Amino acid sequence: MKTIVKGMEGVEEAAEVIRRGGLVAFPTETVYGLGGNALDPEASRKIYAAKGRPSDNPLIVHVSCMEEVDALVSAFPEDARKLMETFWPGPLTIIMPKAECVPLETTGGLNTVAIRCPENKLTLAFIKAAERPIAGPSANTSGKPSPTEAEHVLHDLDGKIDMILDDGPVGIGVESTIIDVTGEVPTLLRPGAITLEELSQTLGKTVEVDPAIVAGGVKEGIHPKAPGMKYRHYAPNACMALVTTAFLKEHDYGVSGEDRKNEDRKVASAIEHLVKKDEAEGKKVGIICCEETRELYAGEYEADLKVIGRRSDPLSMTHELFRILREFDDDQVETIYAESYSDHGVGFALMNRMRKAAGMTELLADV
Ligand code: AMP
Ligand code: MG
Repeated sequence: MKTIVKGMEGVEEAAEVIRRGGLVAFPTETVYGLGGNALDPEASRKIYAAKGRPSDNPLIVHVSCMEEVDALVSAFPEDARKLMETFWPGPLTIIMPKAECVPLETTGGLNTVAIRCPENKLTLAFIKAAERPIAGPSANTSGKPSPTEAEHVLHDLDGKIDMILDDGPVGIGVESTIIDVTGEVPTLLRPGAITLEELSQTLGKTVEVDPAIVAGGVKEGIHPKAPGMKYRHYAPNACMALVTTAFLKEHDYGVSGEDRKNEDRKVASAIEHLVKKDEAEGKKVGIICCEETRELYAGEYEADLKVIGRRSDPLSMTHELFRILREFDDDQVETIYAESYSDHGVGFALMNRMRKAAGMTELLADV
């Protein structure tokens, strides 16, 4: 790969690469994206090839302002307008009916298009300078945790793309919320930092949740609307399991004081038991806990303990998750045990990614 450029000075060069039909990884507030000209089928094909991504898993088209959307859609639902006015630039992708000019290569063969305006100064300037919408899925190898630093992009895509525009570590750390406004009822296709509650409030109506989010992917009788959901995602090399208690789940994690401490202790001792068993078999083990519980993980084991953030502030945890999973990969950790947290608010996005990373495996400490 030719260049990693930090800061504004890379913007013109990055725009030129796009105009020539090349690929540029770019920073956003969610994760790094892998950009190409969204209106050029050849550029989209290159994106799929670089990521090793199945070509029926559509790309998100990035614009620098709301006015650029008109040319990309065949209809502009009122709900979409409200959401854009409220949340853009920001971590919200909106599915709309596509215009002719958006090639099927970019939309994975669908007649809808996913559009987002990211909140990052460099990238907004880059899109404007390119004078084209930018197709950009996450800039990782398909199936791996999404990249939250330029180094992660380099690790996965060195030699496969033309340039990385580096703006340091991202803020949010998990991919954008996706909402589909093409049907009768607006539907959440992927949870992110813009929460279900915020979407409903803005639209003044119920937003449905695609059943595939809750099921964690394709199950018998469940067909996800976001084609990406059927693929294994965010997965570390290690075998990962979440650990919780039936009591916490029953109470939707709304448990505090001594009761919560008791449950936390049960989870920590179940994890200790699992870790010791794996270590006796010679395995390298990792643990993910939070600030509030870290002192419970002081047992006699070797496992690499990573504190993901404060569970009282799920954004502090989304910020760290993918970096931690990549660090475990680098250290050749073989099994990972992680605490489960509440699905409330941004917690829904965090737990969605953690469940996928764990292949939906969740163990109960108290049964
Ligand atoms: P990524 O940015 O790598 O997370 O990938 C983009 C995600 O957006 C994928 O999971 C896609 O399934 C989803 N997506 C993109 N376009 C559409 C669309 N037209 N309809 C539904 N989902 C979409
Ligand atoms: Mg992705």
